[in-house]
Amino acid sequence: MGTTMPDRRRIIKGIAVSSGIVVGRTHLVLPGDISVAEVVVPANEVPREIAALKKAVDDTVGDLRRLRSSAGKNASGPVTKIFDALLLIADDQDFVGKVVDEISTRRRNAGFVYNAMVQQVTDPLKTSKDQYMRQMAGEVDAVARRVLSHLSGFGQVSKLKFPSNTVLVGKSFAPGETLGYRNRKAAGLVVGEGGRNSHMALIARSVMMPVVVVDENWAQIPHDCPIIIDGTAGCVIVHPSDNDIADYQSKSKKVGLALATRIKSLTRIPPCTSDGVDITVMANLELPGPADDILSSQRIPVGLYRTEFLYLESDQFPDEDQQYEQYLQIAEKFEDTTVILRTFDLGADKVRTGDFVPHEDNPALGWRGIRMMLEMDAVFRTQIRAMLRASVHKNLRILLPMISDLTEVDKARKMITQVMAELRQSKKPFDPDIQVGVMIEVPAAALMADQLAPKVDFFSIGTNDLTQYTMSVDRNSTRALDLYNPLHPAVLTLMKITIDAAHLHKIPVSICGEIAGDPAALPLFIGMGVREFSMGPAKIFDICRLVNRIDSREALSMTNSIMAGLSTASVKRKLESFAAALEK
Ligand code: PEP
Ligand code: MG
Repeated sequence: MGTTMPDRRRIIKGIAVSSGIVVGRTHLVLPGDISVAEVVVPANEVPREIAALKKAVDDTVGDLRRLRSSAGKNASGPVTKIFDALLLIADDQDFVGKVVDEISTRRRNAGFVYNAMVQQVTDPLKTSKDQYMRQMAGEVDAVARRVLSHLSGFGQVSKLKFPSNTVLVGKSFAPGETLGYRNRKAAGLVVGEGGRNSHMALIARSVMMPVVVVDENWAQIPHDCPIIIDGTAGCVIVHPSDNDIADYQSKSKKVGLALATRIKSLTRIPPCTSDGVDITVMANLELPGPADDILSSQRIPVGLYRTEFLYLESDQFPDEDQQYEQYLQIAEKFEDTTVILRTFDLGADKVRTGDFVPHEDNPALGWRGIRMMLEMDAVFRTQIRAMLRASVHKNLRILLPMISDLTEVDKARKMITQVMAELRQSKKPFDPDIQVGVMIEVPAAALMADQLAPKVDFFSIGTNDLTQYTMSVDRNSTRALDLYNPLHPAVLTLMKITIDAAHLHKIPVSICGEIAGDPAALPLFIGMGVREFSMGPAKIFDICRLVNRIDSREALSMTNSIMAGLSTASVKRKLESFAAALEK
């Protein structure tokens, strides 16, 4: 009998994406990869396999029809065409017939045969030089994934909770999946791909789920083995020693005071600078979460409510009443203050696997945010109706994402006015003075801020996307990280244009990208005249405390000197010396 070698302890250095420590066991997830085990089926079970395949195809067709109708009968050309194309693929009875024949002759499980036959069709397309063919392969795969998920009863399995301290390991996780896994009690993630500014990362931070990104090393981590992840240091230990375990268990106990206790201890909200300037510190929220009660009891406004997660969490657009209830609930919870509801900002990395969104080579530059909603006007109208109906407490505001052209604002406002008229006619109450603002997150919008300002009630600067689009660096990328810098002079210049336009037209301007919660950057933006900041709840305590120590006049003179001689190095140097002076 041979002796077994102890499993080798291995430390992997990665990128710290969401802080916190987990000491637990791994669970491998292969999102996006379609692989189905081959099972030999006895002759008497062949009819059952065939029936299961037909049902899965029917269920998929049903899903797509439902998505099409929830996207609206009035949806304009491109949307209808997308659904029609997906339905044609799903409901190709010729192909289904061939799969059925193959199941009967080869006596293999339906999922395996269906998947193998789909791949025979898509494999040559995937390597085609023709972009249209590659796109077609993506669409067929998306449909196949839905069929296979129905076949494997994925819907039921996906509700199962993970054992405590489970660390999911995979190549990449979409933001909706991250939230779904958190709901299933996954404790942390080790991921191959995804930058600190990806939506996956900011969702993980907002639900306080530790995440480390480790490039291709993720593929070396075994399933169901002991692991420690440290999302603060960006470090993973596979097969940790007993000492590691003891060490990290005690470290994790010490990790700061609980968020709720810290926010509760704040005595002055809004905080004010040492020279008496009030600064509004607000929360970015995705869905109802554990911190909501404490935030509302401290009268902390919601500066950005990312409603798209209502869709990403399920698999269809919630109907008007479901949305109305959600929005009313949040409006009532934060009744003493304000809540900014952003309309669905879907597209790019905010889509579900197998979604209706067509393949695009550069989805972040494509069908996203307001562009999608103006085409899916029934979905947009439903959302606006729900938001307006929930506005009876007069504390809701509407925020439009990804604006890049003045006409988009005109069209959206026209829709809002029409919905108001409908509500009036049906005697449904709403806030007729509800404020409508826009995200400034595309350079075009920043450059047009002076023309946009008279059309809206407020600006919210989304530095996550503004940085991505200004610097031409994908926010999800783990490469070119030095260039993804919200404090790059080019980004600062666009922010300054926006802030100055807001001041000129006397409308409020806030920052709601991740940089809003960065203590080092706070004096710079206070110096630029920003008085409202919205950030993940975990940042609120530190930022409120810091505000009290900043003198806005000193911040202004530092900002002036930064803006007078803009260079990446001097921005960093001047902010560091400002911070050092605060410490004295
Ligand atoms: C942003 O782009 O800065 C922003 C706040 O929006 P999101 O991160 O949801 O794209
Ligand atoms: Mg954005």
